Amino acid sequence: MIYLDHAATTPIPAPVAEEMMTALTQFANPSAQYPMGQEAKKQVEERRAVIAKALRCASECVHFTSCGTESDNWAIMGALHHNRHVGKHIITTAVEHSAILETCKALQQQGYEVTYLKPDKTGHVTAAQVEAALREDTVLVSVMLVNNETGCIFPLADIARVLKERKSRALLHTDAVQGFLKVPCTPAELGVDLMSLSAHKIGGPKGIGALYIAPHLKNFRPLLFGGGQEMGLRSGTEATVQIAGFAKAVELRCENLEDALRHMAEVKAYCREKLLSIDGIVPVGGGEAPHVLSVSLVGYPSANVVTDLGAQGICLSAGSACHRGKLSHVVQALGLDKRTASGVLRLSFGPETTFDEIDTLYEALLNHKNSRFPML
Ligand code: PLP
Repeated sequence: MIYLDHAATTPIPAPVAEEMMTALTQFANPSAQYPMGQEAKKQVEERRAVIAKALRCASECVHFTSCGTESDNWAIMGALHHNRHVGKHIITTAVEHSAILETCKALQQQGYEVTYLKPDKTGHVTAAQVEAALREDTVLVSVMLVNNETGCIFPLADIARVLKERKSRALLHTDAVQGFLKVPCTPAELGVDLMSLSAHKIGGPKGIGALYIAPHLKNFRPLLFGGGQEMGLRSGTEATVQIAGFAKAVELRCENLEDALRHMAEVKAYCREKLLSIDGIVPVGGGEAPHVLSVSLVGYPSANVVTDLGAQGICLSAGSACHRGKLSHVVQALGLDKRTASGVLRLSFGPETTFDEIDTLYEALLNHKNSRFPML
């Protein structure tokens, strides 16, 4: 099996699985008073500190959630509540993950106004676009760090500078699910107030994420009321096993981060060069992130390519996995012609990806092209 869909989810390294297995047997409730419970609590806090260290922030800023989607929802709702006296205008981009876009759509039904910034043909948005859209009543700017379909990196630090210069009261949130441990991603350097993370994009388990909340956001609105876990902001008994897996995955990636990123970037460059040498394959967008490459086999419907290669044990995506075969909103926003749009393929890489696997992908794509006629 050749797995080239690391932006959808990642394989679990053996040490992560082992850490989770151990945590599973250490079953005590972290809220319990006896030593076994206190030990569980200590471990949750040590693991929180691992995530905080990777973000170069204080542990108190890291709040565990059940996934990136939950973090995105919480960030938006919390920001609107925080700035409820400022207004009802939100700025985001047309190419965010559906966790952001669907939340914004629902908010429009409740009277919020949302500006969706359109990317250029390469998939990028600029801080100048944010500045032009900014209003007195803007309460939140939510812009992702790395786009999951194009790999474009968005200029969060520049956007933060614009908000500061314009003395805006809007909070700045970034969905860093695809950016964490792939590109520079520290809240202080990016100047963001809120940042969403998800473990399963970096070798951790599904079902665990985190929301960074800046220390100045005192009294941020709790997501879940109850027993007061997660510093009173997200009640519910901690997901100790998932937290163990998340922290171990972060530790593992951080051990060899520079080497892993260099390797992914080299694999991506190699893959790009090989695939573009096939007549009829064109690049899509100008994504700089080391793990995502978007191309189009023009005129060949991507769903057919994905099915054909899948049957040969090669896993790739026809755009975001969240869109299940439909032409994605990101592809639509790029304004590609119909034939190019229909053939968009997303390859995404991890530290485990090999050059030999790219050679096999190349042969399979060439074969697909030569054994079929274009449909469009
Ligand atoms: N944001 C981005 C950019 C993503 O790529 C994803 C997952 O594909 C999510 C959010 C959602 O994360 P989760 O699957 O943890 O809910």
